[in-house]
Amino acid sequence: MKKVVKFGGSSLANAEQMKKVADIILSDETRVYVVPSAPGKRFPGDTKVTDMLLEAYAMAAEGKDTAEQLAAIKARYDEIILGLGMDFSLDEDFKEIAAVLKEEPQRDYMASRGEYLNGKVLAAYLNVPFVDAAEVIFFNSEGALNTYKTEKTMAQRLEKLPRAVIPGFYGCGKDGKIKTFSRGGSDVTGSLVAQASRADIYENWTDVSGFLMADPRIVDNPAGIKYITYRELRELSYMGASVLHEDAIFPVRHRGIPINIRNTNRPQDEGTWIVESTCQKPEYVLTGIAGKKGFCTMLITKAMMNAEVGFGRKVLQALEDNHISFEHTPSGIDTMTVVVHEDEFMDKEQAVVSGIHRLAEPDAIEIESGLALIAVVGRGMRSASGTAGKLFSALADANINIRMIDQGSSELNIIIGVEDKDFECAIRAIYNTFVNSDTA
Ligand code: ASP
Repeated sequence: MKKVVKFGGSSLANAEQMKKVADIILSDETRVYVVPSAPGKRFPGDTKVTDMLLEAYAMAAEGKDTAEQLAAIKARYDEIILGLGMDFSLDEDFKEIAAVLKEEPQRDYMASRGEYLNGKVLAAYLNVPFVDAAEVIFFNSEGALNTYKTEKTMAQRLEKLPRAVIPGFYGCGKDGKIKTFSRGGSDVTGSLVAQASRADIYENWTDVSGFLMADPRIVDNPAGIKYITYRELRELSYMGASVLHEDAIFPVRHRGIPINIRNTNRPQDEGTWIVESTCQKPEYVLTGIAGKKGFCTMLITKAMMNAEVGFGRKVLQALEDNHISFEHTPSGIDTMTVVVHEDEFMDKEQAVVSGIHRLAEPDAIEIESGLALIAVVGRGMRSASGTAGKLFSALADANINIRMIDQGSSELNIIIGVEDKDFECAIRAIYNTFVNSDTA
């Protein structure tokens, strides 16, 4: 059994948290490869080290003096080192960072130092080898991950190391310079390490005990999710539920490695298991509910649209020409509705409308904004009858008008569109019907 363990910023924000992390690692000898983030917030309103580094970069790029900012960053690490009672210094590293900032400030290099330095501290504390991610993670000339080279190089390197600390969030660009993933990218590093080392489990330690069935800011005390499939997770995260970086799924999914989301502050909790497939019966018909506000609809009408071949393609062509991706396209006999993101669409609205008129010659186009979409997701829906009925009754009982319905043939989710103002109320109504009064 081999596990890769990734710890998020709040799990490593200070010495006390670092000690918890070390206890977690040392309590299970199969936790062999460790991927740390940079120190995160110690308290609400605190600044993450990554943000402090980015600020230092911005100052340097404007030609400002960064000595004070670098000293503040160094103080964050010194506080950890001192709190852990270590005989360890990052003085040389900070001299090098200051020199790079002076000579040629590089954004990604700066952003990555949070993980790099934290990895060094953690490796020294645990007394295990440190592997610089720039030596084992590679990007291609387009800036995308070079999966082949990364997996091969990392596998070769880790084969010789029974244990190691590999900092998250960055790798080496095609030009030999440091390149980072997008924010939250240490999750991706953890996934790549799990893939290359052929781990049995990828544990992702954070400050919550896994996924919740709904947003706790909307639903009081929502139930936790024990098992979720990669596909269900994809549906929910697309709709705004976020605990894990989206790109973290692909490397492990292809190797059938489950991800276990765990809570550093409550290691006794089992957390959430993200798996390819499972025969674990979900506790409820629904696995989770998520949603987003701020969508627009374009209702396009044309007499005899049903008989016109290629109408849909022409409409979507106008969107493509304006680089807008569409979310849903429910259609009627002589109508087609296209749902798009308000902020993506707003500035290009008139160009799209004239494009559709030119390409598809409709009778009319009507635009409406203020639509919220809610995804009701669950692998259990396939085998349960009456789910849609129950869902719509819940909304009717709460006096909520449904503006759109879309159920894919996978029967994994039902998407409903409601007015922005009804969004929270709709989520609560659905949750209460399926969870609080569900006996399934
Ligand atoms: N430290 C980086 C960030 O704040 C990456 C990460 O934590 O995963 O986004």
